[in-house]
Amino acid sequence: MVDFKAIRAQFPILDQEIHGHPLVYLDSAATSQKPNAVIDAEANFYRTINAGVHRGAHELAARSTMAFEEARAKVAKLVGANAAEGEEEVVVTGGATAGLNLLATAFGNASLGRGGEAAKRFALKPGDEIVVSRAEHHSVLLPFQELSYRTGATFKWIDLTEDGRVRTDNLDEVITERTKVVAVTHVGNATGAITNIAPIIKRAHEVGSIFILDACQSVPHLKVDFHALDVDFAAWSAHKMYGPTGVGFLYGKRDLLEALPPANFGGSMIEVVRMESSTYMSGPARFEAGTQPVAQVVAAGVAAEWMMNIGLENIEAHEKTIAAELLKLGDVDGIRILGPRENVDRIGTVAFDVAGVHPHDVGQFIDAQGIAIRVGHHCAQPVHRHFGLYASNRASSGVYNSVEDAQALVEAAKGIRKFFGVE
Ligand code: PMP
Repeated sequence: MVDFKAIRAQFPILDQEIHGHPLVYLDSAATSQKPNAVIDAEANFYRTINAGVHRGAHELAARSTMAFEEARAKVAKLVGANAAEGEEEVVVTGGATAGLNLLATAFGNASLGRGGEAAKRFALKPGDEIVVSRAEHHSVLLPFQELSYRTGATFKWIDLTEDGRVRTDNLDEVITERTKVVAVTHVGNATGAITNIAPIIKRAHEVGSIFILDACQSVPHLKVDFHALDVDFAAWSAHKMYGPTGVGFLYGKRDLLEALPPANFGGSMIEVVRMESSTYMSGPARFEAGTQPVAQVVAAGVAAEWMMNIGLENIEAHEKTIAAELLKLGDVDGIRILGPRENVDRIGTVAFDVAGVHPHDVGQFIDAQGIAIRVGHHCAQPVHRHFGLYASNRASSGVYNSVEDAQALVEAAKGIRKFFGVE
């Protein structure tokens, strides 16, 4: 049995009062809080081994390189990726957004003929298709929408069911022989719905398309194995999985990473540089131009290890009890949940609309009681349009939340419409 009270006690930020109330943090989908182990790892790196990686002959450089690569291996283990030397499948990025833009830029470069014969599988031209879903965060939608403008490829999307799940009943119509790229979210950041990705991946591969997974909202909450899922690429951020901000990861099947042309150019990614032309390294290094966020990566590795020590199954089961409580928001008069109502194939991220009360007013009312939720469009405007709204309120759980936290929100929510006089 995992003692989740003891786990919560490892998060110093949670031990404070906001507006005279004990802080209830229900905004982990935006960013998670950090346990002492992660905070200490980053500080200790600077205190003891800070040095540039992959260069320099001195001992500190060797130690920081080792710490950096060990962290990559821990993160790889968390998601079922290869980490052995020469087979690494995890690229360090500045975050999920940076990783997704890296892919779109690299595909664009391949479309211009860069990367030679091997990169042709990533090349797009007019008549080809890029497919996303309406559930996408803008960080998936926009890089690939832009890629369609740059290459002349057609931009298409899979629509949603009434309760906001990515549809899988018409995949043969949307994903066709002309589809070259499919990019879909694993878990909707607004709806909390877990996408039934197996048939989408199967269909994408059937037509010879690359499949990209947005794993931002799955890796922190569920046991994820990219090999078992057979995704080609996946992007996620460290700051939502109890790690630091400013760093994230991009998974790619090793043969695809070998074939993909780079997107960013500069130091630490080259073999030979001449004035006439240059050659680039293979593997993750090819995509890691410039000085890397070493302290943050090392701390992200500690976060991955910390999660694995608790056990992803335990995290998932614990957060399911919080989701059950948050879903009771749907029983409050005038409140509508945007997303699946039942506690099946979803995580503890629950977006809701309060009839007649603007989300900013809701947010302020809830905040006054020491409860942090997110209001706005959550970088998912097309999802809100699907529900006939522009914005909503969103509560989202982390491993440190208790059922009491969710109950506090539901109790507070009961007073919203009365307070604003719309009952
Ligand atoms: N995709 C999803 C589903 C997300 O929730 C987020 C973060 N809100 C992103 C992508 C982008 O992540 P980041 O802002 O850390 O780059």
